[in-house]
Amino acid sequence: MLNVKSIAAIAATAALSLALFGCAQTSSVSSASSQDAGSDTTASSEMLSVNDTPQPSAAKSKSTSDAGVPKSAADDASLLRAELAIEEDYRDSFVHGDKGSKFQKYIVLHDTEGDGDASGVINYWDGSGAGVASHFVVNKDGTVWQCVPLDKIAHHAGFGDTGHNELYGVEDESRDDKVGTVPIGDWAADYGMNSYSIGIEMVHVGGSGDYPTEQLEALDKLIAYIDAYYGLESEIIDHKAWRSGNSDTSEEFAGYLANYQDHRSYK
Ligand SMILES: [Zn+2]
Repeated sequence: MLNVKSIAAIAATAALSLALFGCAQTSSVSSASSQDAGSDTTASSEMLSVNDTPQPSAAKSKSTSDAGVPKSAADDASLLRAELAIEEDYRDSFVHGDKGSKFQKYIVLHDTEGDGDASGVINYWDGSGAGVASHFVVNKDGTVWQCVPLDKIAHHAGFGDTGHNELYGVEDESRDDKVGTVPIGDWAADYGMNSYSIGIEMVHVGGSGDYPTEQLEALDKLIAYIDAYYGLESEIIDHKAWRSGNSDTSEEFAGYLANYQDHRSYK
């Protein structure tokens, strides 16, 4: 879920925003810290260890065509994108600056915390006026929508725990205009993740049950596409690793997340 918390807290529509568009961040600091301090520590440790051993995936594009000519990552990306049949629904209000390929480090996974399909989610984001959006939304049936180009910064991760800019190596925030964002407190003072990541929202409500196979298979392909597009394997994290207190991704996704982080597939 996206970080509209500060806006939602101010607006009288806080309940509506959570219902429609989840990312149910706990709105109190004490609740956030008591609930997630432990897991956040774990996530941070894993992050550091994984960061120490980056795995550039240029090897992925070493396959050859029938003619024996090495295929470029761009060719792979085009094929994967075509296979996904991504629905494009770009909105100017979701763009917050340029995000060149050299800044790509992370794929941040979210749950929408609502049952509305991708089209409705994108319309809701646009209508909220908060400027929030992820690059992609994956429906339960496996259809994928994109509302922010890969070379643009989207507001999907928002402010993270204090110290996370340094921990995640995302300290330069200068490319992000931060329009529509409001700091939410001393415990979440860092903001750099948006400038270094691609956000993917899965239509899912935490606690509602398992993710459909069609949705997980689409996520596999979408991650493969993003890998091919950049020619590297971005670090995969979920939103609550960036900001403790976020609900997403949900507990039902924990095993899948571990698999994605280990071998980039839900299985
Ligand atoms: Zn989220």
